[in-house]
Amino acid sequence: MGALLTETIKVGELEIELIRKRVKYLRVGIYPPHGKVRVSAPYRVSARDIVSFISERLDWITKHRKTILARPHPPIREFKTGELHHLFGVPFSLIVKPGENGEKKLNDWYTERLRVVLPSMVERWSKKLNVEVGSWRVRMMKTRWGTCNPRAKRIWLSRELAKYPLECVEYVVCHELVHLIEPSHNSVFKAHMTSAIPNWKLLQAELKKSR
Ligand SMILES: [Zn+2]
Repeated sequence: MGALLTETIKVGELEIELIRKRVKYLRVGIYPPHGKVRVSAPYRVSARDIVSFISERLDWITKHRKTILARPHPPIREFKTGELHHLFGVPFSLIVKPGENGEKKLNDWYTERLRVVLPSMVERWSKKLNVEVGSWRVRMMKTRWGTCNPRAKRIWLSRELAKYPLECVEYVVCHELVHLIEPSHNSVFKAHMTSAIPNWKLLQAELKKSR
C-alpha cells in the first residue's frame, strides 16, 4: 500500500473525506455509524471532476446517509463488571477483576470460543461442499464477517462473529467456503448457498441488521 493523501472537501452541506490513492476509478462510500462519506480518487483526477462526480450522485448519497443515520447507534461500551455482552447470541454480564483489561479479556475470550466451535463447522462444510480449506483463522475485522482467498484456499473469520447466534456463524463459514467454488457473488454462488443453507438470506439479513 502506498502513501495516502487525505483531505476534506465540501459539496453543498456535505463534508467529504477525499483520499488520493493508486486506484483506477473514483469511488464513493458511506460509512456507519455517522454516515461519513469517503471518496477514493486516483491522483490524476482534478478536484473539479471529483466535485461533479459527487454532485451527480448527491441524491443517492443523501438517501443512503439517511438510512445509515436512522439505524440505532451501538451503545458505548465500557467493559466493566455487570455490563451486558453476547456470546453466540446469548446475553451475559461481564466480570472484570481488578487489574484486568475488560475489553482485552472479552476479545480474547471471543477468539477462544470461536476456536472451539469453528473447527467442526469448517470440517463439516468443507466435506459437504467438497472443498479443501488450506488454512483458516480468527481475526479482528470490523467491517467484514469473513474473507476468502480462493487461490491460497485461506479463510479469515471475524472475531465479531462470537457475538452472534451460531447459525449466523455457520452461515459465514459456509459463505466463505462456497467462495472456494465460486469467488464472486453471482448466481452460481447463490445457488450453492441456497442448496447448502436454504434460509441463508435471512441469516445474512440478521448480520446486516446489526451493523
Ligand atoms: Zn462473499
